[in-house]
Amino acid sequence: MEMLKYLAGYPPQLQAQVRTLIAQQRLGDVLAHKYTEPHSVRSDGQLYDYVQALKERHLRKSVPLGKVLYDGRLQVMKHALGTHTAISRVQGGRLKASRELRVASVFRDAPAAFLRMIVVHELAHLKEYEHNKAFYQLCTHMEPDYHQLEFDMRLYLTHLDATRG
Ligand SMILES: [Zn+2]
Repeated sequence: MEMLKYLAGYPPQLQAQVRTLIAQQRLGDVLAHKYTEPHSVRSDGQLYDYVQALKERHLRKSVPLGKVLYDGRLQVMKHALGTHTAISRVQGGRLKASRELRVASVFRDAPAAFLRMIVVHELAHLKEYEHNKAFYQLCTHMEPDYHQLEFDMRLYLTHLDATRG
């Protein structure tokens, strides 16, 4: 049986339920009914504003944002869910940290909730590098429904994989 790569860490019973939904061609409908709201964050500039607004609301004191962009080559699961590159530059003799935040371009067409979830995830990495308890506390601080959204986002990617080609 083919591995459900986005759900690798989840219990076999749950994976079996997802396989059943895929086999019945119902997974896409289930998600489409639950996540009806699209978003209009199309360009990298709009993405920057979107990320910056969330950061202002929740993480004002963390390091400044660097570049923010949709990345069509980004493999969503390669580095967990996105990338958060710490770039240190020497500016005026002082080391200044800035952060580049890339979002896989699959989220450009994803429901609004999944874009929010992925951005929350990447913003939390501005403060916590590892996926530890403090990291997930930050995520749920920014988005109380974070865990459900992350799971459903994994279902969404699984659905896209299953229907591709
Ligand atoms: Zn991560």
